[in-house]
Amino acid sequence: MYRDEHYMRLALDVAKAGIGQTSPNPVVGAVVVNGGAVVGLGAHLKAGELHAEVHAIRMAGEKARGATVYVTLEPCSHYGKTPPCADLLIQAGVRRVVIATTDPNPLVAGKGIDKLRRAGIEVDVGLLKEEADELNRVFFHYIAAKTPFVTLKYACSLDGKIATATGESKWITSEAARQDVHRLRAQHDAILVGVNTVLADNPKLTVRIGEQRKNPLRIILDTNLHTPLDAHVVTDREAETWIITGSGISWEKAEAYERLGVRIIPMPAAHIHVRDVLRLLGEQRITSLFVEGGSRVHDSFLRAGAVNEVVAYIAPKLIGGREAPTPVGGLGFSRLEEAMELDIRQLEMVGPDIKVVAAVKRR
Ligand code: NDP
Ligand code: ZN
Repeated sequence: MYRDEHYMRLALDVAKAGIGQTSPNPVVGAVVVNGGAVVGLGAHLKAGELHAEVHAIRMAGEKARGATVYVTLEPCSHYGKTPPCADLLIQAGVRRVVIATTDPNPLVAGKGIDKLRRAGIEVDVGLLKEEADELNRVFFHYIAAKTPFVTLKYACSLDGKIATATGESKWITSEAARQDVHRLRAQHDAILVGVNTVLADNPKLTVRIGEQRKNPLRIILDTNLHTPLDAHVVTDREAETWIITGSGISWEKAEAYERLGVRIIPMPAAHIHVRDVLRLLGEQRITSLFVEGGSRVHDSFLRAGAVNEVVAYIAPKLIGGREAPTPVGGLGFSRLEEAMELDIRQLEMVGPDIKVVAAVKRR
């Protein structure tokens, strides 16, 4: 049992190589062990490319026969872009398969396990399940809800201000914290902000770290098309931009943006409802959404019960001012009982700033 846990931890570590680059697929790691030695390792690194088990079994070669395979997610049983991994494990002649968690994808959901067992392979399920579920929380949420996993992000002062009373917000946190934000952006399918943030900060919302990566989609909530035609997100063509509007916009106005390559998406109602936005994004295969403000947009997501995780960067500064905005605006909850409860998952220093990652408790 102890050895099993050791090898499954290794498989989880290998799986982490794919974090942020496998969407809309899960991250998966596999380890092949024979005669007390690791003979194969593999991770799924990109949608459409080889699954973790294929890499690991190929590496093991003949040594896969009679081996134990540790895999962080149930092996697939369906023909996708690659043939089923369950079949591969059977053909390779493995003796035992240890699986951390089952695949909620209705195309798999237990069928992979059944297939292995029917072929006479010993299968154990559930070792380090919590860790494996946490690793694929984005994918599992998307499969179950059919809407993206939502992370609210903000930077604030130690007294909880996201800008000064006059609206200045560049920069509250350190360069190191901003670099960390870029890393998180790169792990999401899309970034979303409200039109006031575009008007106040003219952000680029691109990933600017290390070697150039693919930028996530940029989404602006802008009921009446007030986004300036010369805003970075409209003109720079660094990433795709969608502006989501209410139903009442004029098509002449919309065309000016579309000529610049921006997609205008009117919602069915006069006002933009967060649930409608999430449904639309889910249909467009956006599995993860990074909401970067401002405070009114955060409030709307909170009220819609649409937040999965919060990432806060807290700078050792006091800004003060009754009128200075805080991370979540609007009316807020009037009773403490209604407050959104979170579990702190991670607490670390990023340069001089504190980074807090918290998951929303499901009630
Ligand atoms: P937001 O950026 O949250 O934009 C709000 C506007 O978005 C609304 O007024 C509305 O305008 C539009 N909107 C459309 N649909 C919705 C919806 N469903 N819910 C909410 N808004 C919607 O504005 P804030 O003024 O609250 O925040 C901007 C301030 O926050 C700026 O000063 C900025 O510098 C600061 N900021 C700070 C950050 C930080 O981390 N420190 C990060 C981001 C911003 P309309 O009706 O015209 O559509
Ligand atoms: Zn597979």
